[in-house]
Amino acid sequence: MTGVLAAGLATSLVLTYGALTQSEEGRVRKRLTSAAQEVTESAVTSMADRLARVRAMAGDGAIRQALADVRTGGDTAFSLPDARRTLARLQSSPTDTLPIELWSADGRRLALLGSDVGASRIGSPPRGQAHPVPREGLELLGAIDSAAFGEMYAVAERVYFWIVAPVTDGGQPGGYIAQQRRVGGPSTATQRLRGLMDEEVAMYIRNQTGSFWTTAPGAPVPAPARRDSIGANLFDVRPGVGRLTTVELPITGTPWVMVLEAPVSAVEARAQTTVRTLALISLLLTALGAVASWVISRRITAPLASLTTAAEAIARGEYARRADHVGGDEVGRLAVSFNQMAGEVDSARQALERQVAEARSAAEELALANRQLQHTMGEAEHARRDAELAREEAERANRAKGDFLAVMSHELRTPLNAIGGYTQLLEMGVHGPVTEAQRDALARIERSQAHLLRLINDVLNFAKVDAGQVQYAIADVPLDEALTSLEALVAPQLRAKRLAYTYQPCDSRITVRADPEKLQQIVLNLLSNAIKYTPEGGSVATGCEVGAASVCVTVRDTGLGIPPDRMAAIFDPFVQVDRALHRPNDGVGLGLAISRDLARGMSGELTAESVVGGGSVFTLTLPRPEAEPVVSAGVAEDHSPRVSAEA
Ligand code: ADP
Repeated sequence: MTGVLAAGLATSLVLTYGALTQSEEGRVRKRLTSAAQEVTESAVTSMADRLARVRAMAGDGAIRQALADVRTGGDTAFSLPDARRTLARLQSSPTDTLPIELWSADGRRLALLGSDVGASRIGSPPRGQAHPVPREGLELLGAIDSAAFGEMYAVAERVYFWIVAPVTDGGQPGGYIAQQRRVGGPSTATQRLRGLMDEEVAMYIRNQTGSFWTTAPGAPVPAPARRDSIGANLFDVRPGVGRLTTVELPITGTPWVMVLEAPVSAVEARAQTTVRTLALISLLLTALGAVASWVISRRITAPLASLTTAAEAIARGEYARRADHVGGDEVGRLAVSFNQMAGEVDSARQALERQVAEARSAAEELALANRQLQHTMGEAEHARRDAELAREEAERANRAKGDFLAVMSHELRTPLNAIGGYTQLLEMGVHGPVTEAQRDALARIERSQAHLLRLINDVLNFAKVDAGQVQYAIADVPLDEALTSLEALVAPQLRAKRLAYTYQPCDSRITVRADPEKLQQIVLNLLSNAIKYTPEGGSVATGCEVGAASVCVTVRDTGLGIPPDRMAAIFDPFVQVDRALHRPNDGVGLGLAISRDLARGMSGELTAESVVGGGSVFTLTLPRPEAEPVVSAGVAEDHSPRVSAEA
């Protein structure tokens, strides 16, 4: 940044220096021009005056008389001294020793005032040709036809020139007046110049070709080593002085040119001084700016550094660290906010640590609970395995029981059948006549044998059902047909107990999905129970109700009924509601258990409803074939109840 600033500053200083130099140079050149004009003007006036005086002298009668006397060979004893006295008027002062001469047209010097600088014969050159006499400034003497200035020349570090005026006589040149003058001398031009210019200015006069140069006080100097012109501006270069701003003006009426030179270094020095001052001020301002920016930046960065230090400390875990309070500006407010935030972070951290500790202790408790749970689960698994073993053991025992029951039943049926057979043979008198008492005893034996056989069959059936060994031959069974055929089987018992039997016939098209034998076994058992538990004079009724997907077969009686608290138990094996109410030899409580298992084995159900003293209703529900159309009871045929047994 500082580098860029310095570069910018340097560039602007260089540009300023250039502009200043140019403007200063212009100013100097302008002043030089105006001074040159003034000095030249005065020189022109003075030179013109001098020339006019010589020219006037050339027309003087005494001069002309003297020349005429010389030409005609007359007496010059009076006329020449007269002419000399006349010439003396040209002398600027009585001490003026610069020569004033009178020359004849044929090149003889007729009179001399002041010191003699040489009296060589001028001769009489043809008109328009250079005079052969090597007297500087007079070489054109023979060629001039009016007053004129001669060339400047130097003698012993002084510069001289001649003013020559022809003296005509009847239109012919009769002679010449020549006055030598020195450049500078008492001239006050230099002083005037000093008054005009405060710069170090040198004034020169040069001839028109530039081959001869003299200072204004009249000391010969060499021409500049080089001259450059840039546009209308001239620059001379002098050894030991350097480059100079040059202004020159011709001195009108003379063959000379006024030259003013001011060293460029002076101009540059002023610009340099200004630029140096500027540079110094700029440097001072830059330094001040740098110090100010440092102070300002310190004011900004110091609080920020404090904030950063505090933030880093907090990041390292020093949560108690706070930023210094640094005033009420934005950074100060930032520090206050930062401290607040740090405080909140600290309290949040503490809360978090508390929560972490709590979470840790909860995790430990959880781990403990988990271990306990695993322990409990192990124990539960242990218990489950024990239970599994117990269940397997029970199943094994159950199977053994079933096997035992099946074997025992099978083994018992053979001798029982033999007992029945032999009893009947005895009753028939195959072994001799039978007395009434014997017949009665044989009848009791037969009843007991039949009862025992039924018991054994029940046990055998239950064992089979319980062991899941029953095979079901499921088919679409015409229900009406199956129920009608049962009537004949229970007719003797109905008659024996003088019970009325009513059968509400089903639609003959109704079929159920069932094993026909199992269906008949269930309904037969229900009818047997109804007859068994209905006192004489009561009634038993069978019917069916057709549903959309199933058919319910109902067996009703007007018997003893079953107490509500026993309703659930009657379907359990070996359960009888009240043994005292029944004859002890009439069943063992297996019929309903077998019947319900068989019903469920055919995807059906067996349920009961009863009122003590009011009779019972047992309902067997069986599924209908899926494709069978819904047929309502009593639509297609005569379903009026048929009463087959009477009281
Ligand atoms: P069992 O008839 O051989 O005793 P069941 O299993 O057929 O065995 O019947 C179980 C018990 O249910 C019977 O002992 C009886 O108490 C009661 N029970 C069954 N059917 C009826 C009925 N129709 N009326 C009253 N009680 C009945």
